[in-house]
Amino acid sequence: MESIKDKVIVITGASSGMGAVTARRLAELGAKVVLAARRKDQLKTLVAELGDNAIYVKTDVSKRADLDNLIQQAIAKFGHVDVLWNNAGIMPISFFDEGLVDEWDRMIDINIKGVLYGINAVLPHMLQRGQGHILATSSVGGLKTSPGIGVYSGTKFAVRAIMDTLREEVAQTIKVTTIYPGATQSELGHDITSPKIKALYGNLTGMPKMDEDAIASAFIYAISQPGNIVVNDITLRPQGQTR
Ligand code: NDP
Repeated sequence: MESIKDKVIVITGASSGMGAVTARRLAELGAKVVLAARRKDQLKTLVAELGDNAIYVKTDVSKRADLDNLIQQAIAKFGHVDVLWNNAGIMPISFFDEGLVDEWDRMIDINIKGVLYGINAVLPHMLQRGQGHILATSSVGGLKTSPGIGVYSGTKFAVRAIMDTLREEVAQTIKVTTIYPGATQSELGHDITSPKIKALYGNLTGMPKMDEDAIASAFIYAISQPGNIVVNDITLRPQGQTR
């Protein structure tokens, strides 16, 4: 396994959930972490906890200029970027006949465009350095869809297509990894407004869920492989989840 100490790792969606938990684990291992999300207070508190090897950059991943700024700030502080994790995402799921088109738009802007803007911001830097690792969080919903998750699932299928294609284009130089989590404890879904989804699943607390630490361990496994080994995809579910 390769050491994570001193690796410069940028994480979007680091203010809560799997991004925040992974940032803590990485800081313990001596990485330099750059944390991005919209909620400045959460990021500020986390950076205060992690110490000198962590900074935050308030970032809205649906804005291309914010991702450009994020990567520039990371380079200004730590000299370069070794790893970018495009992890930010939202999941206000609904059925098509409810017509919650504004929520569809937000999922497309954050879950798809956010990943694209992240790739665009960091790719020239990594290609120039001749190394780098780009990861993204898709979902098991990016492998298989079901009623009520059509748009969310569509965004995560898109993440899969984008990352698979990126790998084919840059595999000689850059590592590309897609993570496909099943149900995981986090704030995801807090913004569901669909009456049909609420009637079916309540607040989604009834289902088995993995601890965020399971994703942190998967992430660390992917980024600590020796130079000639790439973990392309990781799918993990809590025991008992079958779809
Ligand atoms: P959380 O809701 O806890 O975390 C989502 C993170 O994304 C937050 O830090 C949030 O920060 C950030 N985010 C949302 N919108 C934006 C935006 N416009 N710009 C920047 N950051 C944004 O959930 P998870 O940790 O579970 O989610 C992480 C990823 O995992 C998501 O992509 C999600 O789709 C995926 N996933 C989660 C699963 C689960 O069961 N939890 C299963 C499969 C995939 P802020 O609001 O401060 O901007």
